[in-house]
Amino acid sequence: MNTEVKLHPSTELLNQFVQGELVTGKSVVVSAHMELCESCSAKAKELQALAVSSWVDPGSALQSDQSSEADYSNMVAGIVKSPQIKSEQIEALVEVDIDILNHSIKLPKVLAKAASQGLKWKKVAGGISEAQLFLDNETLCEFIYMAPGCQVPVHTHQGSESTLVLDGSFEDELGEYKTSDFIIRDAQHNHQPRSEEGCLCFAVLDSPLRFTEGFAKLMNPVNRYKFKKATSRVA
Ligand SMILES: [Zn+2]
Repeated sequence: MNTEVKLHPSTELLNQFVQGELVTGKSVVVSAHMELCESCSAKAKELQALAVSSWVDPGSALQSDQSSEADYSNMVAGIVKSPQIKSEQIEALVEVDIDILNHSIKLPKVLAKAASQGLKWKKVAGGISEAQLFLDNETLCEFIYMAPGCQVPVHTHQGSESTLVLDGSFEDELGEYKTSDFIIRDAQHNHQPRSEEGCLCFAVLDSPLRFTEGFAKLMNPVNRYKFKKATSRVA
């Protein structure tokens, strides 16, 4: 558990998670952050107790509060539908050797479960590799690895991109991000992520990236195609 997390999902986003209003991809990235962040996990439990007490009659609110811990862990395990894998098998998947890293890392359980469908890494450009997960038909979800010293072309977002740092760190015009940080970028942000020490992230996009400078702009139709293809994989 990392106690120096600086960047967290908003209360609104946590509440949408607790109320079950998020698509699977977004639920996965929020819940993976919660596994790494004590304060968000405590906050989500409070929000859940509040939600439960508003669904049932007010007299039983206290009782539901006491049982919220157990309910909550079941909820996290249920986010990723993957019938072939039992929850007791997830524990074994958590410690993973991601072949591009030269060390193994501990993934949040919900991500380990999601990744149990198998990760196919693709080298994109300039030291960046991606492995997509197909979780729903509204988001593009991928692990992104940036090799030490590499950078992503300047881009903006048409929707929003939620990124969770899993290992290492990266920086952009707005700051430096370390393991467990949860970053949201949208159309207001034109940014260029780069990583000195190398970085593994999990990112969830709800519409295609748009590169804004130079030759990288030629990639925009590819980004749109990739988004369309990823989101049409899940019925
Ligand atoms: Zn947090």
